[in-house]
Amino acid sequence: MKIGILALQGAVREHHRMVEACGGEAVLIRKVETLSEIDGLILPGGESTAIRRLMDRYGFTEALRSSGLPMFGTCAGVILLAKEVVGQETGHLNKLDITVERNSFGRQVDSFEVELEVRGLEERALAVFIRAPHIAVAGNDVQVLSEVDGKIVAVRSDRHLGISFHPELTDSLVFHKYFMDMVKENISKKMSV
Ligand code: GLN
Repeated sequence: MKIGILALQGAVREHHRMVEACGGEAVLIRKVETLSEIDGLILPGGESTAIRRLMDRYGFTEALRSSGLPMFGTCAGVILLAKEVVGQETGHLNKLDITVERNSFGRQVDSFEVELEVRGLEERALAVFIRAPHIAVAGNDVQVLSEVDGKIVAVRSDRHLGISFHPELTDSLVFHKYFMDMVKENISKKMSV
């Protein structure tokens, strides 16, 4: 299974390590053409406005909007996947029917690590929050997976996974495995059509 990591800005190398640790092949994505080689795409954390600017410059915004690839957004990545962002007129990629609010857990110095329960899983996940967003509204078809202090921080819809935090800064593979299972499901669905 080939998992691409959008390598424009942010925590790219750390995701590469996680994908390989889960037994996948990690591919750094810097050109739109390489999207055709992968089975799923990770949008890393970093700064969503900076990543969006680079996505526009290199043609990713349009290519990803029309792509059917399963996507996994972490931190800035979930902001890119959201249909709406509080305070902005339009969302970026509109993949997840959610409204996100940026910087919901304080500033850089307020970064923290927690152990999260994940709905449907036995194993808990470790999560690092750095100027993290939260999911203020989740649409009907969106499944809520985790919350912190009553704030939604992890969701999935059929093909997409969005989380507010950075599992790739821990050794916890829970969410990467979860995403890779989603990708596997998507591959077998495509083969049975
Ligand atoms: N605060 C950043 C943003 O709004 C996200 C932070 C992160 O990805 N660690 O894009």
